[in-house]
Amino acid sequence: MKHLNCKNCGAPMLLDASGMTAVCHYCGTKYVLNHEDTDYFRGFYRRMTEFLSGGADEQARRLKADALWQDADEQAFDCTDGSRIEIKYMYSYTLPGVEVYVARRNIIFHFLTDGAAGSERFRRAVSLLDYPSADTRSLQSFFPTISGGFELCDGTCVLVVSKDMDEYPLCLFGNLPGRHVAWIISRMENLCCVLEYNALVHPAINVNSLYINPYTHQASLYGGWWEADRRNTATRGGVLKTEQNLTALRDTAANLLGYAKAGEVRVTDDVPKALADFINSKPRGNAYDDFAYWDEMLIKAYGERKFISMNADDEQIYGNAR
Ligand SMILES: [Zn+2]
Repeated sequence: MKHLNCKNCGAPMLLDASGMTAVCHYCGTKYVLNHEDTDYFRGFYRRMTEFLSGGADEQARRLKADALWQDADEQAFDCTDGSRIEIKYMYSYTLPGVEVYVARRNIIFHFLTDGAAGSERFRRAVSLLDYPSADTRSLQSFFPTISGGFELCDGTCVLVVSKDMDEYPLCLFGNLPGRHVAWIISRMENLCCVLEYNALVHPAINVNSLYINPYTHQASLYGGWWEADRRNTATRGGVLKTEQNLTALRDTAANLLGYAKAGEVRVTDDVPKALADFINSKPRGNAYDDFAYWDEMLIKAYGERKFISMNADDEQIYGNAR
């Protein structure tokens, strides 16, 4: 795909709700897209959101995904051990000090500065994750599994994280309707509860670090781990506070609705008052209370859940509603 990266700092840009202006959340650069680009990105996001509406059978899905990968770019890395890693990637972007490549079954993080330090920070933060014993297997799959690390000939370092074929960075879906944002908030609350359980703060929860599976409506937090650490740890970005997880969750939801940040979300035909109020609200004291508060607001926004079997997940409840 075409890359919508900031011309000033290289970071991924977000389209606003009109689809005409792109904004960089890292340096604040804004620019107006030309017609051709506007049409391209609107078309691309529309194709991605079609994935979310469900209905397609396995084979139809596979064909759609294959079409997406037809114009994949290629990149090679030369390792100090003499090997050469060649990847095909659909999407890439640069964050301060890190290039990210999204391949079909992997995400490749290329740490450009301070040798292996960024990669080590990533590994360490992920190693601090522990799961409530009853739930180990299912929760673990929503956090990074590191499948390799390589030192490169130019002194930089690459870290490879596995992902499912059907998982895509959230940013590729552009702006989403309220109901989709609602299930994504539910999944982010799940992720924040795991962070809370581990006393971890991940200040970079956003549309680039979150990956969603549009078919199963699951969300995973794969990126940005070099910024994560235990709460109250002093980092380059300041002392980490639990509240940052829940603030980032709200900003992400606001971004998906086309706003720059939480606090700005307005009620529309598509965004019920309880949804806007939740996103604009101050986080509760911890993720568990915040999740309970969200559940309450979710019911206010979209009504009492119907009598669906206890095991029914949000996909069945919200999946076909647009
Ligand atoms: Zn920028």
